[in-house]
Amino acid sequence: MHLYGSLKIPLAIDLFLISSDNDTDILPLYNAGLPTTLHRFFKLYSFIKNNRMGIKVIAFDADDTLWVNEPYFQETEKKFCELLEDFLPHHSVSQELFKTEIANLGLYGYGVKGFILSMIETALRVSNNTLNAVVIEKAIQYGKELLERPIEMLDGVEDVLKALSGKYRLVVATKGDLLDQERKLKKSGIGHYFHHTEIMSDKQEKDYQKLIKHLDIEPSQFLMIGNSIKSDVLPVLAVGGYGVHVPYHTTWAHEQVSHHIEHPNFRQLKQISEILPQLLP
Ligand SMILES: [Mg+2]
Repeated sequence: MHLYGSLKIPLAIDLFLISSDNDTDILPLYNAGLPTTLHRFFKLYSFIKNNRMGIKVIAFDADDTLWVNEPYFQETEKKFCELLEDFLPHHSVSQELFKTEIANLGLYGYGVKGFILSMIETALRVSNNTLNAVVIEKAIQYGKELLERPIEMLDGVEDVLKALSGKYRLVVATKGDLLDQERKLKKSGIGHYFHHTEIMSDKQEKDYQKLIKHLDIEPSQFLMIGNSIKSDVLPVLAVGGYGVHVPYHTTWAHEQVSHHIEHPNFRQLKQISEILPQLLP
């Protein structure tokens, strides 16, 4: 029992990690059937060690990571479906709207303005161009209300920013409309914690590579925190950075993936504040 004492395990792991060329050397060991506890311990220790080895920039996704977003869209969508209930059941209108949004993503990008245009297009299609112009007026009004919603910060966000500020370069990396995201950041009152805000047209590997280059750092010095596995974690891991997932209770269908991640640079948290013990001495 004493062989696995609290001092000897970290020392052994430390020696092993020092002798490893990189994190990928550890993966076969993970897969070799280590006991679950030891397996988790390896992952955590590897993460902390690598963090100490040089993370410089911590990037935060904005919507549903820093502040509430998706529930507001869902409320708007519900009202929109009610507008069209003479033509189709709610669920079908919702499906039609989703189809329109996805088809338009390449043209309009992410954000409220594209969402408004997609609502109008969907309304015209499901009504076979027979709807009253008042419905279009309502859809535009709902969109404007969405743009004017107050900012509701998520639990623990400001404490995390305050604690990390000055110790790391903090960045916002978000999709959405430029003006809308800038406005939300200003209204949130947390803008002063960030060195840089990147409004990204998309969050794919090439977009992160561009951001990392712009920040003048190596991928291994970049850590991204966000609520979307698809946008905030997988592409970051793929380019050599660190990905931290903090799930939100609701996620847009387009961002949903069922993906089990086994990667030494990945961390799954329940709350954003859980990152602090891993990033601070
Ligand atoms: Mg998000």
